[in-house]
This record gives sequence, C-alpha cells and structure tokens, in this order.
Amino acid sequence: MNKKYDFLKVVKHLDKKEYSFDQNIIKPHCIDWRKKYTGTSDLIIFPKTVDKLAKVVRECSRQKIPIIPQGGNTSLVGGSVPRKNRSEIIINLKNLNKIRRVDELGFTATVESGCILEDIQNYLKKKKMTFPISMGSRGSCQIGGNIATNAGGLNVIKYGLLRHNILGLEAIMSDGRIYSDLKGIKKNNTGYDLKQLLIGSEGTLGIITAANIQTFPESKEENVIFASFETFKDLLYFYHDIVTHFSDLLTSFEMINNDSMELVIKHNSELTNFIEKGEYYCLIELSNFMLIPNFYDLIVNNLSKIKSKVNSIIVSKSQKENIKFWKYREAIPPSETNEKICIQHDISLPLENMNKFIDETINEIKKISPDVKFINFGHLGDNNLHFNVLSSEITDHRNLLQNKHKITEIIYLKTNKYAGSFSAEHGVGQLKKKELIKYKSKEEIKQMLSIKKIFDPWNILNPGKIF
Ligand code: FAD
Repeated sequence: MNKKYDFLKVVKHLDKKEYSFDQNIIKPHCIDWRKKYTGTSDLIIFPKTVDKLAKVVRECSRQKIPIIPQGGNTSLVGGSVPRKNRSEIIINLKNLNKIRRVDELGFTATVESGCILEDIQNYLKKKKMTFPISMGSRGSCQIGGNIATNAGGLNVIKYGLLRHNILGLEAIMSDGRIYSDLKGIKKNNTGYDLKQLLIGSEGTLGIITAANIQTFPESKEENVIFASFETFKDLLYFYHDIVTHFSDLLTSFEMINNDSMELVIKHNSELTNFIEKGEYYCLIELSNFMLIPNFYDLIVNNLSKIKSKVNSIIVSKSQKENIKFWKYREAIPPSETNEKICIQHDISLPLENMNKFIDETINEIKKISPDVKFINFGHLGDNNLHFNVLSSEITDHRNLLQNKHKITEIIYLKTNKYAGSFSAEHGVGQLKKKELIKYKSKEEIKQMLSIKKIFDPWNILNPGKIF
C-alpha cells in the first residue's frame, strides 16, 4: 500500500460497497481487454452517485492522486487500465447506471455514464426508439466509455460517430467540480462547446457522469445484402452505386477480404462459404424506416439497375438470415484470436486512396514477411480499414515477431502518405502514443497539451494515456 497518499480520506464519504482494497477484486480491472497491458492499483472505487464521485475527485485533486476512469474496460489501446506501480486509483463507473429521463417528444434520453450500451438500446426498443451507435462490444462497453473514445461502430455511415449523437454532457472536472450541460437542445451556439473537448478525450480531461443522447425512431425491418467481387476497385464502384441508389436507407456498409472470410470459415464450423468466391466481399444493411411495402422487392429492383461488376449478390429474406449474414463480419475478431500471431491496426483512409494503399502496403510487407495473410475488413462507408497481419501455417514465427514493429511502421507511414489516420476509432490510449507524436503536427500537439494543462493542471486524470 502506498504511504504517500491517504486513501482512507479518499473513501471517507463512500459506503463499504463503493470501494475495495481487495486485490482479488482489483486485479481483473488492471488488465485490458486484449491482455496486452497489465497494471497495478491499491484501490478501486465504484461510486453510486455523482456527488460522492465529485467528493472522491476533490480529495484526489487535493492529494494529487492519479485517477483512471474505467467503463466496460473494452478499450483496445490500453486506455482504461492503470500503469504499474504508480498508485493510480481506478474509478469504475458501473454503478452510475440510471436512465434518468427519456424525452419521447424530442427523441432524446438522459443516461448515466455507467449504463451498458446494449441496456440503453434494449430500454429504448420498448419505446420503439433506437440509439443507433452499436458495436461488437455493446454487451460490455458503457456509454461513458463510448463517449470518452468517440466510438464509431456499425452505423456511422448513416448516423455519424458518437460525437454527432450527443446533445449534452455532465462531467466531474479534475478539481472535483461538476460541469453540467444537459439541456438536450440541438442548437446552442453560445461560445466554446466544451462537451466536444470531453468527447474522445479518453478520460484525460474529465470524468463523464451523464449524457444527453439523440435517439431515433426504430427501423421497421432490415435486409442485408452480401456480395462478392474480383477486385477492390469493383467493390468501391459498387459502394458508390449503393449510396446513389439507396441513399438514406443505407445503415451499414462493411468490407471483408477473402483472407478474413477464410479465417472465419476455418474457425466457425457452422459458417460455410455460401456465396460465390471473390477476393473481396461486402455486407450491406438497408433499413426500412417508413414501412415501404415490399421492401425486399424494392431492394432487388434497385440492385438490378446497378451496372458495376459483381461476382455474386444475395439479399436476406428474414431476420434469421440477417443474423446469419452478420455473423461472418462479427466472427472476424474472435477468429483472429485463435491464430498464433496477429498484428492489428485500426486505420482510416480516403476511399479514393484505399486501393493504392492496400496494394502498396501488402507488397512492401511481403518483402520482409512473405508468408503472411492480410486480414482486411472494416466499416468501409466510414473510411475505416482494419489492416491486420496474420501468421499462416508456413510463416516463420520468429521472423514475423522480429519484424512486428517494422510492419506496423510500414502501415502507418503508408497511411500517412495516403492522407489517413493511424487511429480510426479506438483512440490513442497507451498503444499509440509514439504515433501521436510522430504523425500529428507540432502545432496540434502544442495546442492539445495546452488544453490538457487547463483542464487537468496536476495531470491526475488518466496520466500516461494519449500523452
Ligand atoms: P473503457 O474501455 O473502460 O475505457 C475507454 C477509455 O475511456 C479509457 O481511456 C477510459 O479511461 C475512458 N473512460 C471510460 N469511461 C469513462 C468515463 N465515464 N469518463 C471519462 N473517461 C472514461 N470501438 C469502436 O469505436 N467501434 C467498434 O466497432 C468497436 N468494436 C469493438 C469490438 C470489440 C469486440 C471490442 C472488444 C471493442 C470494440 N471497440 C470498438 C472498442 C471499445 O469497445 C470502444 O472503444 C468503447 O467505446 C469503449 O467503452 P468502454 O466502456 O469499454 O470504455
């Protein structure tokens, strides 16, 4: 136990169930989702009210104790766990989990930050509404974590990022003061928009305690299209045609390459190759918001007008088939974990540069590691590309591990060359600190550091993350 700090003063206002010094309880919260980062902590706090959390932060500020805000701990960049031997306190938000209000007239809801994303979705469903941000981690991640990472997910193509669906925030600042702007209004041009700084700040500028989210009427039915293509260029032309022909009905557009498809089929015996083979595949979701009659027929009719080259197209006919089609996409990340080595990258690029980027990057990596596979998939409609390098049966594993950093560098240099971003949706956390310094301009870094200094002069909020 650290002697420098008086932890008993920190927990003074809490009930016994709201904190723990027990390592059996603390340790699982010190390991990140991918098990890449393991830290240590002597104290974890599970505050039940915003006022109590504010008192905790006030005391931490007085003693300059570092605090790690933690949601569902599904961060893929090591953002939500403490570092080793720094006496960092974990503040886990799971008990701040009330849905405070649903405004059915204005299509908004006020939710506390510890609400699990899927619980919010299920709650709103009963009111025939939806909060459209969704992702593979929806059963564990919390809305506070989603906001702190400006999460993206499957429906960004229609609804935008988390940022675009937040009308107001409540947060505890580094000195324990409560910032509250939960009016729930769209138009509010009254000077600097502070919530925009908190969104995506990865717990380094404030602890988000509640949010006013934008909700939407539920779609009445969905159909999923699965298509295969000979080349990436064909897929891109098809994307353009789909956007043109379906416009507002388009709610997801995912790309899957053949290595990803084969990986999924290898590790999921219930999934077979049900469509004519291609080098690339796409999975598209179309939503019927206005109860258009014979939606399936409308889709097939519109598809028949599309001129771009496609190997094969299948349109789902039922919710059961929708679930089956989506499994091919959702099974990619878990299937990767069954392989020996997988070097992962979450990048984004302008669509017009993506083809050149993929070709050039694969060629360059093959020069140093010839026998690898490339798991390329992602939310193509949002410029997102997961570019993962996977060992194959014939890969020299030692050689691949030795080249790991070189491979990552090739990918990020090419991303930079083609005007992309080294982190599309997962953030910076601990994983991409070096890249932040390398690829952001000096001016951007200077301004970011100035903002951090204003919000958190003692650097107690999630230190060692982003910077
Ligand atoms: P945590 O992991 O607990 O924390 C993430 C960061 O936010 C940390 O820096 C933490 O300190 C901070 N934080 C957490 N709560 C708060 C708070 N209340 N106030 C201030 N700071 C806070 N991400 C996407 O964007 N799109 C995807 O499609 C996607 N798919 C995923 C699929 C899987 C299977 C997994 C495991 C992850 C995926 N992710 C995705 C990443 C991750 O789920 C998201 O980043 C998610 O938004 C994190 O939420 P969380 O509650 O788990 O936050």
